Amino acid sequence: MKVQEILNNLETKHPGEKEYLQAVQEVLESIETIYNENPQYESAKIIERLVEPDRIITFRVSWVDDDGNVHVNLGHRVQFNNAIGPYKGGIRLHPSVNLSILKFLGFEQIFKNALTTLPMGGGKGGSDFNPKGKSDAEIMRFCQAFMLELWRVIGPNTDVPAGDIGTGGREIGFMYGMYKKLQMENSGVLTGKGLNWGGSLIRPEATGFGATYFTKDMLKTQNDSFKGKTVCCSGFGNVTWGVALKVTELGGKVVTISGPDGYVYDKDGLDEDKIDYLLSLRASNNDIVSPYVEEYPEAVFYPGKKPWEVKCDIAMPSAIQNELNGEDAAQLVANGVQYVAEVSNMGCTPEAIEVFHNHKIPFAPGKAANAGGVGVSGLEMSQNAMKINWTKDEVDAKLHQIMSSIHVACEKYGTEEDGYINYVKGANIAGFIKVADAMLDLGV
Ligand code: GLU
Repeated sequence: MKVQEILNNLETKHPGEKEYLQAVQEVLESIETIYNENPQYESAKIIERLVEPDRIITFRVSWVDDDGNVHVNLGHRVQFNNAIGPYKGGIRLHPSVNLSILKFLGFEQIFKNALTTLPMGGGKGGSDFNPKGKSDAEIMRFCQAFMLELWRVIGPNTDVPAGDIGTGGREIGFMYGMYKKLQMENSGVLTGKGLNWGGSLIRPEATGFGATYFTKDMLKTQNDSFKGKTVCCSGFGNVTWGVALKVTELGGKVVTISGPDGYVYDKDGLDEDKIDYLLSLRASNNDIVSPYVEEYPEAVFYPGKKPWEVKCDIAMPSAIQNELNGEDAAQLVANGVQYVAEVSNMGCTPEAIEVFHNHKIPFAPGKAANAGGVGVSGLEMSQNAMKINWTKDEVDAKLHQIMSSIHVACEKYGTEEDGYINYVKGANIAGFIKVADAMLDLGV
C-alpha cells in the first residue's frame, strides 16, 4: 500500500474533503506495516473498498418555523461499512455539517464500533440545521421532516442512528415518534431513546463515563490514578457532563469547561451542583457557557479563548473535531500535562498528536476513548432485541468491561519497543484487523 497514492486518489475523486482525508491518513499510516505484511488485504483491495462508503443518501429537509417561514436544509446518511453489523452512528445537527465531516465521522465509527466488541458497522448522518435558538416546536418540526426522508434507509437490522452534537434525547424522541408513525413498529431503530420508551440506563452518561474508565486504565499503566489530579475539559454538553461526574467520583477535579464563546475556569472544580447545572445550561439551547459565572461568581470566564492554556495534569477535549492544535499541545506540555484523552471525535490535530507522542505523553484517540457512547448504544440494541431492561449496575459493568477490553487491544497492538503505548496505532490496528478480516470472509 502506498498511503500517499491512496490519499491523492481520494483527493482527486472527492476534492476538498479535508476532515475526511485527515481521518483516513491517520488510519492508513498506523496500519501500513501490518497491511503490507498481509498480502491477502492488498489482493482483496481492502483499503480501496474501505475508504469509499457503501452508499451516501442525501435529501432535502423542508420545515416551517414558528412565524410560518419555510426553511430548507440538507440531510445526509453515510452508510459506510456493515461488515460486522448494521450501520451504526449518530446524527449531527450543526451548521458546519457537510459530507467531508460526516465521512470522517462515519469512517472513525467503523473502527470505533469494531473496538467495542459488539456487532456494529459504521455510519453517520446529519444536517446543516442549526438548533441554536430554535423553539421546541421548531426542533420537533425539523426532526419530523428529517425522519420523513431518513426512515426509508434505516431499520433495526440495517442502520441504527443515534445522537451526536445537536441531537440529544429530545431530538431522538421526535425522530422516533415520526419513525413509528411511518413504520408502525417498536423495534428500537434509534438508540439514545428515553427510558420509558426503550432507552437504556447509563446511555446519557456513557460517553463521558467510558472515556473516564479508559483514562483510568491509562493512568493505571503508570501506577497512577485520578486522585488529586486536575483535569481540563472543553465543551459543556452531555459528554463533558459525564466526564465531570465520573472524574469527580474518582477523586479528580475538573477545572475548565468551554463553549464557542470562550472557556470558564473554576479553580475549586465542578462539584455535584455545578455538574447538575451544566445540563440546564445546555438545555437552555443558546450554546454559550458564560452564564456559568453569573451562577458561580468564584469562576472566571475567558472570552474567545480555549482552555488549553490552563495548567492541568490531564486534558480531556470533549467538544468538536480539531479543537486542540499543535500550539495548544505545546502549551499543555510546557505546563506539565501528563495524560491526554480525546473524548471528542478527532479532537486533536495531527500536529497536536505528534507533540504528545514526541513527549511520550500517553494519548488516547477518540475512537478508543469515546467508544463508551456507541458501546452502550449497542447494549441498548441488545436490550431492545431481547425485550428486557438491564439495571444501572449491569449496564455500567458491561460498559466498564468494554472500555477495559479496548485498552487491552490498544496495549496489544500499540506498545512500542521502549514500552510507550501508542494508543493511536493500537486502536487503529485492532479496529482495522477485525473489519478487514470480516470483509475477507464475506467476499467481494
Ligand atoms: N455519536 C456518538 C459517537 O460519536 C454515538 C453514536 C451511537 O451511539 O451510535 O460515537
